[in-house]
Amino acid sequence: MSEWASVLLVFWALWLADGIKLPPAARFNLTGRGRRARLVFGRLLAPGWSPTGWRALADDMPFALSPAGICNRPVGSAGRPAEAPARATAWAWGDIRETGVQGGWITINGARFCRDTGHLRASQILGLARMPEPVRTPRISWWIARWLRPAHLRRRTRALAGRTLVPVVFNGVFLALAVVLSAYLLADGASRLAPRQAEMIARLLPLVLGYLGLVHLAAVVTAWRALRRLKVPGEDKRGLALFSAALLPPQALRLRALAGDGWFPAQHPLAYALAFAGKREREDLAFQVLGDLRWPIGEAGDPPLAKTVAAWHRAELTKRLDPLLAAADLDEAKLFVAPRADGPASCRYCPRCRSQFTSETARCPHGVELRATGRAAD
Ligand SMILES: [Zn+2]
Repeated sequence: MSEWASVLLVFWALWLADGIKLPPAARFNLTGRGRRARLVFGRLLAPGWSPTGWRALADDMPFALSPAGICNRPVGSAGRPAEAPARATAWAWGDIRETGVQGGWITINGARFCRDTGHLRASQILGLARMPEPVRTPRISWWIARWLRPAHLRRRTRALAGRTLVPVVFNGVFLALAVVLSAYLLADGASRLAPRQAEMIARLLPLVLGYLGLVHLAAVVTAWRALRRLKVPGEDKRGLALFSAALLPPQALRLRALAGDGWFPAQHPLAYALAFAGKREREDLAFQVLGDLRWPIGEAGDPPLAKTVAAWHRAELTKRLDPLLAAADLDEAKLFVAPRADGPASCRYCPRCRSQFTSETARCPHGVELRATGRAAD
């Protein structure tokens, strides 16, 4: 029995570890089933357990655009703490001669610019730089609108679910059988049964294992066919992942999540929240994005061009967000209503981070102007 136990332990440990990601910077991890998803922002990103689940990763946009140029000061960030560049740089379109990618970073004229999140590829930045101005400005607005399309994200999940239905069924069968088999072996089911029944099950065991092997094979083959119908832009790492999963069955039990790697386009995290998250999470993210748009922090020492670019992008993003928030029944006035004082001494609060203050200081440590709190709860 002990050799079984260690095999099972390794199997389930590999299953648990499968799909865990540790990106260099915090990202939004969406683990969804059907039309709903849970949204987590962090550095340790785990997939869901269910084979029916899908998964998407979303990043805040690491740059801002305007007709004047591009800068690496993010605007309208949803993540907290919001990522900020070590040093803000801005390029006027006319000054951009070459762009590239180096170790996950986009470079402009050879200098490190911002993380490569997929919102704009290096070649697309160069493309914008080479456009004549009357073409470029509408194109920039087009891009900003393109990163805010919840309906498109919902369509992508439907297509992914439809095309991975068969491997998901095989995954479900495999997982259910593996759970029953593990419970039987670990709980020492044989000792609890009559000797004849236990012997019969012992004889059936190789057959069950063979059946599991077939189900695994069918899942991998059908998933491979699904990948060919779910084309992703850029480098496709899913073929290699599927090959590795074929050799290690515990890695082949989330084939829908595997097929969805790269399937979801880079959009604003708020678009993901509006498409899939519950009301509470949508409100939280809308609060953070709008807070960052209204009370930007950390840009006091930025070069003038960076400030101009960021201000333009902020105005454009605000304009594009308004109808989306209205459609999602998110009222800005309600999101930013003054909190009740959390103690008798608390008299002021920061509208961006909601910290409360007892003294009459004018600004919070981030430099945001404080406001008066609501009446203290009795
Ligand atoms: Zn604050």
